[in-house]
Amino acid sequence: MTCRTCPRPAWHWLWWHPARSLRVHWTVPSCSPFCLNLWRERRMVDPNDQEVAAMLTAGDIAGQYIDAVGRTDMATWSEQDWRGFIEAVCGAYVDSLIEQQIAINSAVAKVQAVPG
Ligand SMILES: [Zn+2]
Repeated sequence: MTCRTCPRPAWHWLWWHPARSLRVHWTVPSCSPFCLNLWRERRMVDPNDQEVAAMLTAGDIAGQYIDAVGRTDMATWSEQDWRGFIEAVCGAYVDSLIEQQIAINSAVAKVQAVPG
């Protein structure tokens, strides 16, 4: 994997390493803080309330998934275990955002309804 900004290898922060926190994986592959900084607007630097809620939901699902696998040492996980974990976490995050959007749409629909 190369840096998104320049042709050097993307090693900065070992962003690709599975043992690093998920937050690191949300960054753009980069070779250095300098190159990463050019993508600042693409990162979730300041998560809003909805994103924080979605992360909490994803964190709960992550814990449940780890309990289900029964081994907390992720280095012992199979590729299938790891892929399932990522699917569960990403799915929970996206589902949470969608559920929040549906709730907001329902609230907005109440105030936009034309009086009959
Ligand atoms: Zn670079």
